[in-house]
Amino acid sequence: MNSVSTRNAVYVGSFDPPTLGHFDIISRGSRLFQRLTVGIGINPDKRPLFSPEERVDLVKQIASGLPNVDVVCFEGLTVNFAKARDAAVLLRGVRTVSDIELEFTMALTNHVLTPELETVFLMASEKYSHISSSLIKQIAQMGQDQAATSLRDFVPPCVIQPLLEKVRRPKTS
Ligand code: ADP
Repeated sequence: MNSVSTRNAVYVGSFDPPTLGHFDIISRGSRLFQRLTVGIGINPDKRPLFSPEERVDLVKQIASGLPNVDVVCFEGLTVNFAKARDAAVLLRGVRTVSDIELEFTMALTNHVLTPELETVFLMASEKYSHISSSLIKQIAQMGQDQAATSLRDFVPPCVIQPLLEKVRRPKTS
């Protein structure tokens, strides 16, 4: 018997930026598990728009009404992060068949690394299944006024201004 708890789950990702689709998974996950930790992955191979600290801050704002949700950033393997958070469940969201292909490979790999960690998938809600962080970055590059209006359908309100700022002055580090 392992010591990690099935009442605790981690939901990991880039969240660059966090979207309404991410928030939907976070709020549904918070109802399924006693404690849900959102893990913002630090990936040295990617050049994110937002720093890990900025993403933590944005997700904290988004999840501020959900008392059983923690938000932290982490480096290294997801399986080690889950263990550190005493979580037996890795929560993921799936939108499309192509998501499933990637997620399946990842879940199998994680299962080999840590058999006691179960991956649980939530299907994206119909109204958010088209939303991705990369698409949002493209929308943000439209004219500022048009982007500000359009983004309301894709990201929580607190993300809009920081995102428009970033696109205006892309991060150099
Ligand atoms: P990653 O780099 O791990 O793909 P993302 O931030 O893009 O990080 O996604 C994190 C998790 O959220 C993944 O499980 C992804 O499938 C899920 N996800 C992303 N967008 C949505 C959405 N619109 N609806 C539901 N789940 C989503």
